[in-house]
Order: sequence, then structure tokens, then C-alpha cells
Amino acid sequence: MPTILDGTAVAAAIKQEVAAEVKRLAGLGVRPGLAVILVGDNPASQIYVRSKVQSCLDLGLGSELITPPTTVTTDEMLELVASLNAREDIDGILIQLPLPAHVDTKALLDAVDPAKDVDGFHPVNAGRLQAGRPALAPCTPAGVIELLKRSEIAMAGQHAVVVGRSDIVGKPAAMLLLHQNATVTICHSKTRDLGAITRQADILVAAIGVPGFITAGMVKPGATLIDVGMNRISDRSLFERFFAGNEKREAVFAKRGSTLIGDIDPKAFELSSAYTPVPGGVGPLTIAMLMANTVRAAKMRRGL
Ligand code: NDP
Repeated sequence: MPTILDGTAVAAAIKQEVAAEVKRLAGLGVRPGLAVILVGDNPASQIYVRSKVQSCLDLGLGSELITPPTTVTTDEMLELVASLNAREDIDGILIQLPLPAHVDTKALLDAVDPAKDVDGFHPVNAGRLQAGRPALAPCTPAGVIELLKRSEIAMAGQHAVVVGRSDIVGKPAAMLLLHQNATVTICHSKTRDLGAITRQADILVAAIGVPGFITAGMVKPGATLIDVGMNRISDRSLFERFFAGNEKREAVFAKRGSTLIGDIDPKAFELSSAYTPVPGGVGPLTIAMLMANTVRAAKMRRGL
């Protein structure tokens, strides 16, 4: 039977450690603070932002939610970021993506002070990460590494295959695995004979954005499967393809008219030695690592 890598439990442990550190910092007169900027009324973004702010409250961090109107211009957003960069009580600045199409997302991400870039999206942090210098690493891949470490899954010498090369997940995941001494292969949409490569993976990280894309035939028996994908499916035939006969999922689907699935076909999990479920695997770690990054940023800025 494969081991289920319980991201919810690991996230809770990380949050507990963060709360303890926040308490310690309070004794030094420091209260790490996170500013979250949310533009528009994207329902998924609203849910993510709410849980980020709630986590700050739960762990004793300061938080500020700023909600400019959808009509906000790039210049107005740049001014806002500059004012947050200058504020002593703000240690982390998070711009919830996606932004409206008329706003220059790259210009804004580049305007965040790298010392406050708790999402780890600034090119300076990407460069530091690559160079193996202290950096604020993107939360989702950093969470994957924490999960592997705390689950005592060896990375050194293992062949890690990362499918996906986004700046947010795939590339930093590959870099972090490399720093853990894994032998890393990065695959993407132009990779030839993808299955031949994924079948070599001791650790397979899927960050693609296509429901159940990695099938059982693409996986080496005994591999560790890390499913970063978060795809909501509402199509009945797609549901049947992945979850036919799964009563728990049936109940969710009947109630909500949709369910979450990752980028790995759940049938592939059965071949693995360990895997992250969706939901409850990688997802919860992202916010835990955001909290950890905010505290880290607060300490780094003060030389603590
Ligand atoms: P992107 O769309 O930015 O990147 C997807 C990557 O997958 C690209 O590199 C793309 O290749 C590759 N890809 C797409 N189709 C194929 C294919 N047929 N074969 C091989 N590779 C392919 O997505 P993100 O990295 O932002 O997110 C990936 C997934 O992770 C999504 O499901 C997202 O929802 C989820 N996610 C989950 C988070 C969490 O907290 N759990 C946080 C962030 C993301 P190419 O570059 O060639 O186009």
C-alpha cells in the first residue's frame, strides 16, 4: 500500500512552528506583517486571499488586505507597491494573481522590494535561488520540499522528473530538488516521448494544469508522486473516467456539481510508494510556506 503524504498535517506542523517563532519575535518587539493586494472579484482569488489573511490572524502575524477597484491602473498599483515597500510594519507583499489584463503584471512583480517578496517571484529571488544564496523561494515548490523532507523521502541521488516549467512552480521546484542533490529532469509541452522520461522518475512532480494528465502507464512502480495540479472538473464523463466507483467522490460531485483533481490520474497513485492526494496534499502547504516566508522576511530584513 502506498503512503499518503498528508499535506494538511505537515502544513499544520509548519504553522505551529511559525506561531512559536512569531511569539518569540514578539518578545523582541517585532510583529511580522503581510500585505495582500487583491484586485477584482475572481471567486477563486477571493477564497485564497481570505484563507491567507485568516492564517495570519491565526498565527499572530499582522495582515492588511488592500482591494483596489478593477479599474485600477498600472501606475496606481506601482504607487501602492512603492508605499508598501517603504512601510516598516510590512514585511511581506503579496499581489494575488491573476490581475486584470490591462495591468502590467510583470512590472508590478518587479516593483516589489525583493526583501519583501514572500511569493518569491521577483527575478532577484529567482536568481538567488539558482545561485544557492539565501532567497525567498516560491511557496508551493518550497512546500513540496518540506513535505518530502518531513516525510523522510530521500532526494539525494534520486532521479526527480518535474513536468511543467512555470516560473511559479516547475522551475523553482526543479532548482530546489537540485539543491537537495536530486538528479533533475525538467519536461514541458515540447518534450518528446514524455512517458519514457516520466517512467524513469524516482520522484515525479506534476505541475501541468491538465486533469489526470499523468497516467498509470507513465509512472515507474514504487515512485514517489507529487501532484501539484489543482483542477476543478464538472464534466460528468471526465468525472467517470477518473472516479467511477469512488463513493466519497460521488457524494462530493453530487453535492457540488464538481470535484478537484490533480495532474495525476488517481489510478497511478496505486503504483506508487508514496503520493500526495488532491485535495489535501501540496495545496495546504502553499499557505503554510507563505506564513513561514513572511516571518523569514521579517527576520532577514532586521538581520535576526
Ligand atoms: P502553467 O500553466 O504556468 O504551466 C504549466 C506547465 O505545464 C508549462 O510549463 C507547460 O509547458 C506544461 N505543460 C502543459 N501541457 C503539457 C503537456 N501536454 N505535456 C507536458 N507539459 C505540459 O501552470 P502552473 O505551473 O502555474 O500550475 C500548474 C498546476 O499547478 C495547475 O494545475 C495549478 O492549478 C497548480 N498549482 C497549484 C498550487 C497549489 O497551491 N497546490 C499553486 C500553483 C499552481 P510549456 O511551458 O511548454 O507550455
